[in-house]
Amino acid sequence: MLNGAGATPGEREVPIEVCMLSSGSDGNAAFVRSGSTTILVDAGLSLKELSRRLSLIDEEPRSLDAVVITHEHIDHVRGIGPLSRRHRVPIFTNDATARASTLRAQCSDTLERFTTGTPFEVGNLLLRPFPVPHDAAETVGFNVSDGRVNVGVATDLGSVTLEVREGLSNCDALVLEFNHDESMLMDGPYPPFLKERVSGPHGHLSNDDAGALIEDVFHEGLQYLVLAHISRINNKPSLSVKTARKALGSGGADVRVSVGRHDIIGEIITV
Ligand SMILES: [Zn+2]
Ligand SMILES: [Zn+2]
Repeated sequence: MLNGAGATPGEREVPIEVCMLSSGSDGNAAFVRSGSTTILVDAGLSLKELSRRLSLIDEEPRSLDAVVITHEHIDHVRGIGPLSRRHRVPIFTNDATARASTLRAQCSDTLERFTTGTPFEVGNLLLRPFPVPHDAAETVGFNVSDGRVNVGVATDLGSVTLEVREGLSNCDALVLEFNHDESMLMDGPYPPFLKERVSGPHGHLSNDDAGALIEDVFHEGLQYLVLAHISRINNKPSLSVKTARKALGSGGADVRVSVGRHDIIGEIITV
């Protein structure tokens, strides 16, 4: 039963906790815990590194209830096969992602399907996968809820659609892509085709794109914002933070902003 929906008056509320184990093109994994339910959104690190980082927050791979996959790019699925085979962790994906990847062969015994746009439950959590325009088979973002609070996770977008705005509205915590600074990308070392892909509608959000989205979805209940998938070559965390702060404005001065990193785990966010 979902926490908020089923809690009786006076019963202690169980928080949702979120920890970015890794963020960026070297690997993405967001850990989410609600009571005894633990999931990862993506598992883009090797199993060895995932295990090491989970141990830093007193967790281990075999106790994960699920890994839910946003899309099949390697920085999101690197550790999926070993998690499935060695630790029997259920892997949730949509059918298009399964077909476009080696997931069916890698996780034949633990692969579960969700339908984009249709909510599904994992333990205490209700997950709503919503479509995003990023250039994989059928990329999704997730709105994760315990019936009391909502956490939005969208790390590879490309552009902002109505479904993205809806999926990320009413969130108490947001993990959102702030991939590149437009000038740094255009003046930087990427070849022209890659600059076009990254900045295009099916690539990644710039700081300014993400800032505009924050202005759209901001509401008084927003407590945390994690800036995710920040490019090491075409961005600086300080630029992303500056843009996020500007977008949050005086109304969002109390929102805690942190940066998802590839090399170390983030703080544990409690909502
Ligand atoms: Zn990615
Ligand atoms: Zn991607």
